[in-house]
Amino acid sequence: MKCPHCGDAATKVVDSRSASGGVRRRRECQECAERFFTYEQYQSVLVMVIKKDGRREEFQREKLLHGLRVAARKRPLPAGAVEAIVDEIERRLMAADRDEVPSRAIGEMAIAQLKLLDPIAYIRFASVYRQFASIDDLLQGIARLDYSPLPAAEQARLFEDDMSRILDGERVPTPIESAPSAAAARR
Ligand SMILES: [Zn+2]
Repeated sequence: MKCPHCGDAATKVVDSRSASGGVRRRRECQECAERFFTYEQYQSVLVMVIKKDGRREEFQREKLLHGLRVAARKRPLPAGAVEAIVDEIERRLMAADRDEVPSRAIGEMAIAQLKLLDPIAYIRFASVYRQFASIDDLLQGIARLDYSPLPAAEQARLFEDDMSRILDGERVPTPIESAPSAAAARR
C-alpha cells in the first residue's frame, strides 16, 4: 500500500476495525509519518458456473434469487429468507475457493437450503432443477414429504458432509429419495 502523500511503499497498519461488509485500517507512512485510512471490502463471489452443455457463465446472484423467488411464491416464508439462502450459497462458494463449479452444485445447495425452509418451495424448485422423470415421480416425492425434520444442527452437519460431493457436481439424495418411505409402506 503506497502512501497517498509521498508515494512511499513503506506503510504500516496501526489499527484495524471491522466495518460493515469489510475492514477499515489506519495506516502510517514510515517515510513521511502521514496517516491515512484504507477500507477493504469483501468481494462478492466470482465463480464460473459450468452449465450442462459445458459452457461457462459467471455466477449470477440475481438469476438464482429469481429462481428461488418463483419456487417460494405465495409461501408463508419469513421476510428475507430467500435472500438468506443466496447469501449462504455465496458464502459457501467463497469459502470453497474454486474458480468454477457445476451448475448442479448451485442447484443442489439451493435445494438443500430450501428443504430446511419450506416443503412446497423445496419440491417446486427440486422438480424444476432435477426434472422429475414423470408426474408420478413428482407426486410420489410430495407424498413422502411427511418425514420428520431433523434438528437444525443435525441438518447443518449433514449438509457440511455433503458439501464436497455437491461441489464436485454429484447429486446428493434428498430425504424424499433417501428416507424410508412411509407412503410406500402404507400401500
Ligand atoms: Zn508518506
